[in-house]
Amino acid sequence: MNDDHHASHGFSTRAIHDGQPFDPRTGAVIPPIFMTSTFVQDGVGGFRDGYEYSRGGNPSRDALQQQLASLEGGSHAFAFGSGLAAEDAILRAVLQPGDHVLMGNDVYGGTHRLVSQIHSRWGVEISTADASDLDAVRAGLRPSTKILWVETPSNPLMKVADIAGLAELGHAAGAIVVADNTFATPYLQQPLGLGADVVVHSTTKYIGGHSDLVGGAVVTADASLAERIGFQQFAVGAVNSPFDAWLTSRSLKTLAVRVERHCQNAQLVAESLVGHPAVTAVHYPGLADHPQHELAARQMRGFGGMVSLQLAGGKAAALELVRHTGVFQLAESLGGIESLVCFPSEMTHASVKGTELAVPEDLLRLSVGLEDADDLVADLQQALGKLA
Ligand SMILES: *Cc1c(COP(=O)(O)O)cnc(C)c1O
Repeated sequence: MNDDHHASHGFSTRAIHDGQPFDPRTGAVIPPIFMTSTFVQDGVGGFRDGYEYSRGGNPSRDALQQQLASLEGGSHAFAFGSGLAAEDAILRAVLQPGDHVLMGNDVYGGTHRLVSQIHSRWGVEISTADASDLDAVRAGLRPSTKILWVETPSNPLMKVADIAGLAELGHAAGAIVVADNTFATPYLQQPLGLGADVVVHSTTKYIGGHSDLVGGAVVTADASLAERIGFQQFAVGAVNSPFDAWLTSRSLKTLAVRVERHCQNAQLVAESLVGHPAVTAVHYPGLADHPQHELAARQMRGFGGMVSLQLAGGKAAALELVRHTGVFQLAESLGGIESLVCFPSEMTHASVKGTELAVPEDLLRLSVGLEDADDLVADLQQALGKLA
């Protein structure tokens, strides 16, 4: 297709075509990677297609940004060098000294750290509340709250928060509502359509999908917020490289099929763990006894690829289990084609040890990949069988 926006098309058609027209010079079906820092001007200020310098704009980054805006139902998207750089741009675009941020109490540890250890030095205040409990969130909002920050499903306990309900509470209190959509991806859940003002992603995870890049993104349908975030991106400069932007665009084209399989495999893995004598709890929104199963079924198109479990043998059993898995490799991060196991309390969540965000020490988090489900289930069963 040679036209680059198709609002009426379905998710995968837009993922494959929006922002991704063939190269007009050669007809190459895939847009080239624009590995350039600067652009020749036809006389001073004579920019070709608006391009001047790649911190301010690059065609490979623009292609990704158009694709992301389309998939999240936003009007503007910005691609950054990491998820945290994307978060930082939102925070700086919105907050002034004295402002307060209310966050879910099980957001990504680095998100909490960014505000509590960096933005706090400029007088920004932070507190947390259980985002799956609307009354707790209402009680946590202050007159100075400017951002209500929600992550759903949450990491690593897979709690599900009601985005529409939170958007209503946040807006009534005069705050903007930011949704970290990294775990769900735009294929499973579109927070802007549920009332959130801004969506943020670590594109390192499902959107990149192959564990070969680090990146982040912000998407919004609010033009004035977009202008402020775009200015932050230009003035601070934490942009995605053209190569990473191109890789991320390539990955987005297969997001729907990948996430469908992640969901199928995760459901099978979660069900295989339920009732095992060494396992005391399995956290997965697709299980009928998950506390927010109904909400998840309403708010999401599927239940995602992340599962966590708690072990009867406590921390020792968690540390032992990760020595016995073979297909599930021990590593931080998530959302790639390969299955990973992580011990959050000393890995992804080490930065929040001893705070209200600390996670249980008997807990392991699984990023269920795209290998054959039988191999994934067998790998965990043999490893559980080795626990004393
Ligand atoms: C990884 C992650 C981040 C941070 O993103 P980086 O790309 O590592 O900077 C933020 N939120 C969630 C939910 C994440 O999983």
